[in-house]
Amino acid sequence: MKLIKKSHTEQTAEAPSAGRGADGKGVSLNRRAFLRNAGLTVGGVTLASQMVPGLVRKSEAATTVAVGDDVETKRTICGHCSVGCGIYAKVRDGVWVGQEPAFDHPFNLGAHCAKGAAVRDHGHGERRLKYPMKMVDGKWKRISWDQAIDEIGDKMMEIREASGPDSVYWLGSAKFNNEQAYLFRKMAALWGSNNVDHQARICHSTTVAGVANTWGYGAMTNSYNDMLNSKAILIIGGNPAEAHPVSMMFTLRAKEQGAKLLVIDPRFTRTAAHADQFVRLRPGSDIAVVYGMMWHIFENGWEDKEFLEQRVWGMDQVLEEVARWTPDEVERVSGVDRETCYNAAKLMADNRPGTFVWCMGGTQHTVGNNFTRAYCHFQLALGNMGKAGGGTNIFRGHDNVQGATDFGVLSDNLPGYYGLSEGAWRHWAAVWDLDYDEMAARFGQETYEERGGSGSKPMNTSGIPVSRWIDGVLEDREQIVQPDNLRAMVFWGHAPNSQVRGPEMKKAFEKLDLLVVVDPFPTVSAVMHDRKDNTYLLPATTQFETYGSVTASNRSIQWRDKVIEPLFDSRPDHVIIYKFAKKFGIADDLTKNIQVNGEEPLIEDIVREYNKGMWTIGYSGQSPERLKDHQKNWHTFNTTTLLAEGGPAHDEFYGLPWPCWGTPEFKHPGTANLYDTSLPVAKGGLNFRENFGTERDGDNLLAEGSYPVGAEIQDGHPRFSADLLKQLGWWDDLTDEEKVLAEGKPWHLDRSGGIIRVAIEHGCAPFGNAKARCVAWNFPDPVPIHREPLYTTRYDLVEKYPTYEDRRGFFRLPTRYASVQAKDYSNDYPLIHTSGRLVEYEGGGDETRSNPWLAELQQEMFAEIHPVDANNAGIRDGQDIWLEGPEGGRIRIKAMVTRRVEPGVVFTPFHFGGHFQGKDLRANYPEGSDPFVLGEACNTAFTYGYDSVTAMQETKCSLCRIQPA
Ligand code: SF4
Repeated sequence: MKLIKKSHTEQTAEAPSAGRGADGKGVSLNRRAFLRNAGLTVGGVTLASQMVPGLVRKSEAATTVAVGDDVETKRTICGHCSVGCGIYAKVRDGVWVGQEPAFDHPFNLGAHCAKGAAVRDHGHGERRLKYPMKMVDGKWKRISWDQAIDEIGDKMMEIREASGPDSVYWLGSAKFNNEQAYLFRKMAALWGSNNVDHQARICHSTTVAGVANTWGYGAMTNSYNDMLNSKAILIIGGNPAEAHPVSMMFTLRAKEQGAKLLVIDPRFTRTAAHADQFVRLRPGSDIAVVYGMMWHIFENGWEDKEFLEQRVWGMDQVLEEVARWTPDEVERVSGVDRETCYNAAKLMADNRPGTFVWCMGGTQHTVGNNFTRAYCHFQLALGNMGKAGGGTNIFRGHDNVQGATDFGVLSDNLPGYYGLSEGAWRHWAAVWDLDYDEMAARFGQETYEERGGSGSKPMNTSGIPVSRWIDGVLEDREQIVQPDNLRAMVFWGHAPNSQVRGPEMKKAFEKLDLLVVVDPFPTVSAVMHDRKDNTYLLPATTQFETYGSVTASNRSIQWRDKVIEPLFDSRPDHVIIYKFAKKFGIADDLTKNIQVNGEEPLIEDIVREYNKGMWTIGYSGQSPERLKDHQKNWHTFNTTTLLAEGGPAHDEFYGLPWPCWGTPEFKHPGTANLYDTSLPVAKGGLNFRENFGTERDGDNLLAEGSYPVGAEIQDGHPRFSADLLKQLGWWDDLTDEEKVLAEGKPWHLDRSGGIIRVAIEHGCAPFGNAKARCVAWNFPDPVPIHREPLYTTRYDLVEKYPTYEDRRGFFRLPTRYASVQAKDYSNDYPLIHTSGRLVEYEGGGDETRSNPWLAELQQEMFAEIHPVDANNAGIRDGQDIWLEGPEGGRIRIKAMVTRRVEPGVVFTPFHFGGHFQGKDLRANYPEGSDPFVLGEACNTAFTYGYDSVTAMQETKCSLCRIQPA
């Protein structure tokens, strides 16, 4: 398709159809007024991708919008990545007429990338899904909300009756705000299933597991801003110049101040172009390179001995593995030679504190959890943790993937990472003011040990992760640890083209009894199959048509205003959740302590409810009032430390980054940099968490001689509990009311918050004070080791570095490793296939490819191919090619011949969809809602392979072959 550049008039001429309120009626605005208002701004949108990060100029919107008394300014946050840039949205008569990047916002300081600069057209998007639709004999037909909820609900209840609650899958979204994420997880719990998940599974689940199992919390430790304090910045498997463009502002400013930038990647990215040193590694060989650098660090005595002694356990076992990674072996496995590896290690050793950044290049592997833990070990070796300028800065993807993870839109967690044990469920039942036994009775009861089940009930067993939903549908029923296959899928804000194994996915779509898509856009779920009926599309609003909080990658929680009323016949996610709950008869339980206006649960009440349960990670102190105060006072926060300097939030960190301990009244300022002992806990200081016991193999796991400033216990100590308070003689520091709830409880189950308060008043971290552990004895590889990808061009390495044995009952499913790797595919598929992100688009790309401003910038799906491989295959730059994976998925795309990739590696971006194995599916979209740009999904050609701890999919090293089309 050739995209024709749209004139302003063309764009606005279609906009009046957008003028509908939440009730489906037109807003009070005539066509002429809408055109006048909307036309004022269209030319003002700045396509900021053309800005070099750091050379950001003020949006033209500010000068072209005629701002008068009748224009309201709303404060919102960009919805396209986890940086969380602030936006001033200009609204006149209910129409979003202009936008400016917020110059006084502490994260973006007036900068935007292309996506942020174009968000108004996301809100007023003409290609949105406008009405509930139903497929009838293969044709889309408009229906009412009532009919849609009735029919879908009846079908789900029928499936539940026949196959149990686990046959309905609730696939949620990183696009939810925090309140919607929390309500969604609660609804799934009340439905009676852990078959609920979201995109974090396929972007950073291996980070969350790896990092949490090293030092306690599975999140970015510092902030984008804090990189200004770094003397060195190591970026591995990440390309923030395109994926998190505004974050590069901080990287480049740090560089201007003298920091060194080290980029390790298989591809010479736009980020690598700024590096002081670029290290090109073979995809999937991160362990070799990271351990190779550690080999030099310990060989030369560059490690931080005092830090290791006081705050780290198990490094000796890691060093046994590191010793195997001699410079020769590193080069043999990764292609990185001795000198390059030495220089990289020295750069980091000489420039401390240094920060370690990674993204999906480090996570999306069958051994992703090994990689993320090795990254942590590297930082521990240099003593870079728990300090400004150091840390592991793990850049998340979507705007609220951190929040949706924190609120447990996951098959293995409840909100706040409480897990799925009976104690966790009892905690949340108490917070929800519901009877535990009644709730438990809604779940299936059988354990299916003969199918590989652990013996635990479904309520206490991880559900099927989103990465494996197609196996939940297609796998032999007798092999699944639940009564029946998945029969109904609800895709709520999820792009299926972001997942591998396209041909099998198509089959799975077609086998479902019921398919429901809830999204502002139809998404590829609407078109990539030949279904004829039992398929529904429900229009959700964007985040600009509702309000609430969103958590940026650095754990800051930001409040968003509602910019406009819901357009067309769309509804906010929490309203749709309530509609389903009503249909299932669980609405009263869902909103027992939440005010409901019409069908809209009150967002502020949802915050107040989760404040009462999220003690583990400190989402308990951020009341709606405090968050709104921060939102109104962006200008008061220091843009390096994030600390407010005067004003109503004085001495609080922006967005009260979690943990913000205790109750809102306790007024904890939030924690900007995790595990930083140079500050008192009451002022955002911390130490590593005691989460793995106090002793292992006779070794002390508690910190030794290290503690936060002002702590009364000047050594390591276990996590707090009622008993520990009594032993310390601090029990009577609790009020009488607090004692009632705290009695017999550990700190995180005390719903009064009293144990936390008392611990902090004595200067101590409520979760104890322990060493980080380098050996996760509960993981398949306690010490991270290298294993070759299932599909590898280096089959010669498989014998020494084999994958795992096949498994049963892993997230309820059989999972293949050795049986896939048993065959060498590299003769027929000689190239490594890897994937990544482009600056213009986000995720599966439905929103951004439907945005005319962004669509114009990048109109073709392509593959980057080195000249050697192109010439050998007879392929010229710009030519149409077929790229085929070893499981048979094939895509027809354009060739981009470039030296960004090295010979033997092919890179594809993952944002495209709407073509399938050479077929254009444009005609299958509901009329007027096809994205401007369609293209093949690279994942159609990607293959089987799942992380051994989290079931993360492998999309960073598979195999392919290419030929002219
Ligand atoms: Fe900022 Fe990310 Fe939005 Fe770009 S996509 S404007 S970097 S939040």
